[in-house]
Amino acid sequence: MALREVIGQERAVDMLLGALRKGRLASSYLFCGESGIGKKMTAVNFARAINCPATDHRHGIQDDEPSIFPADIFPSPESASPNADAGISGLDACDSCESCIKFVSGTHPDFLMVSPEERQIRIEEIRMVEESLSFKPFEGRMKVVVVDDAEMMNPAAANAFLKTLEEPPAASVIILVSSRPELLPATIRSRCSRILFSPLPSEACRRVLEGKVPDQALDIITRLSMGRPGLALSADLIAERDWFFELLGGMLRAEKDAWSSRDDMERWLDLLLIFLRDMTVFRVTGSGKGLINGDLADEVKRLAQSLEVKGIIYIYRELSFLKGMLMFNLNKSVTWNYTASLLRKEMAV
Ligand SMILES: [Zn+2]
Repeated sequence: MALREVIGQERAVDMLLGALRKGRLASSYLFCGESGIGKKMTAVNFARAINCPATDHRHGIQDDEPSIFPADIFPSPESASPNADAGISGLDACDSCESCIKFVSGTHPDFLMVSPEERQIRIEEIRMVEESLSFKPFEGRMKVVVVDDAEMMNPAAANAFLKTLEEPPAASVIILVSSRPELLPATIRSRCSRILFSPLPSEACRRVLEGKVPDQALDIITRLSMGRPGLALSADLIAERDWFFELLGGMLRAEKDAWSSRDDMERWLDLLLIFLRDMTVFRVTGSGKGLINGDLADEVKRLAQSLEVKGIIYIYRELSFLKGMLMFNLNKSVTWNYTASLLRKEMAV
């Protein structure tokens, strides 16, 4: 995929192509925005565009503008792929050369992706990044490292990483990807060029999902993904919603904690917030239009009628606050019991 083919993130893509056009890349970027909206995919495709030999990033550089690319990294016209005019004005990845294909298979030697394990990025991973960046590019123009869910670096890892950011190795680009950038140390954030990603408009989200989810479920899955198609591609949102209702029933019947992990707890609370949002919409408008769970309007109506708008808003506020506290390792069963008592008290069930 070329950068231009990333759907619904035109502003971010324009900024990245603009940097390539000028041949002036930042040494580190922070791609931020909610999860499931294409940050990591854009990072991979940016790395491809940087390294695709069919591109010519000198295009458009003014003589007095220094380029950050070393002078010898651009291939001579003979060595460029025959598809040299592919992409956007020779800036974007061609999608078909050996280099581009290696990015898809994850085998490009100048590319490293680091992700958290058990919700943590440890210093060992950052040492790996340092080591990888200590070598010159093997076959591409620049080394590119992507740190996914970068906010999950533990303090030791973040400290070590800061040193790398302070003295970026030549011919390298570091891309931090984060849906919670506020959790990163300010010293790291301030050293990165920030690229903001937004949830996709409904139509763009639908285009991403078309052909990838069953046709008959496309409408409802588009609504449930709320502009975050990556969520729908990584999980069955309809099955997830069934699971949500099953647990909600258990919670209202005062059954005990049924979340199997902290991730479960976090996702379930997200779904509850969406449902509370729908209940508010229903109470205010009196109609099923505009509901995210539009196919379950009767269910939303039944629950919405069991409490006042101010009660719904109160629960919403309390749970939003609780969600913000999740990073402090809240105990699952305490959180379950608290949520249950909050719902039961306000809903009079
Ligand atoms: Zn290529």
